[in-house]
Amino acid sequence: MVHRVERPTSDGLSTWPNAGVTLARMIRRLCEECRIHTSELESIGVSCGGPLRSAEGTILSPPNLPGWKDVPIKAFLADQFGVSRIYVDNDANATAVAELRWGAGKGTNSLAYLTCGTGIGAGIILDGRIYRGKNDLAGEIGHAVVIPDGPLCVCGKRGCLESLASGSSIGRMGAAAYGKSEMTGKAVIELAHTGDPAAVEIVLSAAYYLGIGISNLLHTLDIELIILGSLAVYAGERYMDKVQSTVVENTWKSILENTRIVPSGLGYRTQDLAALAMALPMED
Ligand SMILES: [Zn+2]
Repeated sequence: MVHRVERPTSDGLSTWPNAGVTLARMIRRLCEECRIHTSELESIGVSCGGPLRSAEGTILSPPNLPGWKDVPIKAFLADQFGVSRIYVDNDANATAVAELRWGAGKGTNSLAYLTCGTGIGAGIILDGRIYRGKNDLAGEIGHAVVIPDGPLCVCGKRGCLESLASGSSIGRMGAAAYGKSEMTGKAVIELAHTGDPAAVEIVLSAAYYLGIGISNLLHTLDIELIILGSLAVYAGERYMDKVQSTVVENTWKSILENTRIVPSGLGYRTQDLAALAMALPMED
């Protein structure tokens, strides 16, 4: 990576088509600062929260971008820059590819990258290729039910993995435990780091359910490597130990042979590398 520009969503990117104008301006600035002409661009990679249609290059209605709906990002960028090679994928898939090439997944050919942030989703690589499923919805393991009739999930179902193990669910449980109207997952994890017993219990409970989700994924796919995103990196050793021990308790030994569960290896560059991984397709 030689250069980057960054901008908060609130700054001209929260609604489409305004966001398109801002994005195009950002790409022009990036080229200018790198002293290349936009006509020299060979390909563009887009990594974005789903749901989206990757082949068509349309972003449907990402929960974190409420002002974006059915955005034809691929057609828009092709029109703006005359580039034919534009690749669009959801951030879980794009990050899985980046981890495979440059991060914790180097040297393997089957892995799942779990986003573990606000929500939980998996990017799945099987035999060196992204597995997208028929509707681009493979890897929505955050919405697999782990407690029937459990807590209400943002998707409307009950007891989804995401409602028990995501950063937002940790925040929600923390707010309930401390009698606050709102708390972030990060704040609860920070309290857990100080040894606060209620916070530790919440974080370990999230780790437990994530372990159950991972065990189910391993029983389904028998893959070599599970890479955990932001929450695992931030929550540290105690969290990872609980995830590992839960997976070991709930997974066949024969499946666990040659399986590793590790935190993300790309650190703060993850999102940049995810988009770059899209711009350089694996077939190349
Ligand atoms: Zn759900």
